Amino acid sequence: MRVFNTLTRKKETIKPIKKGQISMYACGPTVYQSAHIGNLKTYLVEDLLKRALQFEGYKVKHIMNITDVGHLTSDADSGEDKVEKEAKRQRKTAKQITKFYADEFKRDLKKLNILPPNKFAWASQYIKSQIDLIKKLEKKGYTYRTADGIYFDTSKFKKYGALGRQTTGKSRVTHDKSKKRDADFALWKFSGSAKRQQEWPSPWGVGFPGWHIECSAISTKELGQPFDIHLGGEDHILVHHNNEIAQSEAACGKPLAHYWVHSAFMLLGKDKMSKSKGNFITLSELEKRGWDPMVFRYLVISSQYRSKLNFSETALVSARNSLNKIYNLFAARKTGGRVCKKRTRAFLAALQDDLNMPAAFEVVWELIKTDKKSLADKQATLLHWDKVLGLGLKDYKLVIPAKVKELVKKREVTRKKKNWSMSDKLRGEIQKQGFDIKDTPSGAKLIKL
Ligand code: AMP
Ligand code: ZN
Repeated sequence: MRVFNTLTRKKETIKPIKKGQISMYACGPTVYQSAHIGNLKTYLVEDLLKRALQFEGYKVKHIMNITDVGHLTSDADSGEDKVEKEAKRQRKTAKQITKFYADEFKRDLKKLNILPPNKFAWASQYIKSQIDLIKKLEKKGYTYRTADGIYFDTSKFKKYGALGRQTTGKSRVTHDKSKKRDADFALWKFSGSAKRQQEWPSPWGVGFPGWHIECSAISTKELGQPFDIHLGGEDHILVHHNNEIAQSEAACGKPLAHYWVHSAFMLLGKDKMSKSKGNFITLSELEKRGWDPMVFRYLVISSQYRSKLNFSETALVSARNSLNKIYNLFAARKTGGRVCKKRTRAFLAALQDDLNMPAAFEVVWELIKTDKKSLADKQATLLHWDKVLGLGLKDYKLVIPAKVKELVKKREVTRKKKNWSMSDKLRGEIQKQGFDIKDTPSGAKLIKL
């Protein structure tokens, strides 16, 4: 597998630390609100990479954190804790809030057929590991104290900002006079006079961990340091991931991860889909509008993950049409088919080229269209590839609504009576319901549009 490594800005062949195994860490959701489909786009890309590695034969260990504490409203070191703020607003406990949104997030992953990580690691359950890591940094002279917390001194870490060529830390980080440099960031924040539901004692005072330290502490506790692949959305490159690297490498003198893979943004109109800006759509909203989550999965996985993805209904319509063409091939099950080896090699080669999904889907369409393969062979091959695509082909069943069944029956009767105009009218009605009828030598066949 070759992936574009943000660290070296090159496509590189993945050479795992342990033969036959891949360790991967993904920055997970901050659970104070519903995840939006932009977040889910990133988790779909990560799922695709994981499945592609498994398809290559690797055993994959995948850890994802759940941020239930420490992520502040500014995304930097000021403002309120997002979870505490939402708890206050809803008059609930922080635990109730985080459980509710984490459960919803897990349901979203399931609906999208995203394989769950080996572990969801909650930040609040790794407080000791985070404190230990800060102690190590303190001992090595990488920290300083301000009125509101313990900070990482980025000037002491010479390589600071190597990821995405960030050097000054100016972007996105607000200027704060109490810090030595804008890029410096909080490792531990004091509760101070604020009334907080989630706070812990520490050698520096009662408080809570900064947002970045959890990923450093959790990833290395669960996977070791270094591990193979670190994943996330592109918004995390400049600040969050550079900070993770600085903390972990300063503390241990070893790289944190060998490959850094980032998924490009999903856009809504011209802007990034974003929780804090409020311009976002959730998966439940898509479902309410009548969209099958699998259509969204198809839309994301058929695109190149490093290009920004424009979300629109038109894009969904075209994804649905393509997906239904694949599903229609499974309307009647055939057995005894054989996996086409030649095309599987081409499919795998596309995956191995930095998840070149447009090329992988070219192979899919070529297989579907060829008349040199039997339907049984096509089904067997697609079922094999579906280990990566995750479109649920194994369990796919054409569900025909009662109304459509009735229309089909009526049409058959009118055809027998040779009432062609009525039969055409009924076909139009069937099409309006999202289905169509194809008259084949073996009788009329119903397909999904
Ligand atoms: P958050 O819950 O904000 O910490 O984000 C969870 C994941 O979604 C992170 O990997 C982010 O980088 C990613 N993400 C946030 N917004 C977008 C977006 N518009 N498109 C793609 N990924 C995103
Ligand atoms: Zn992270």
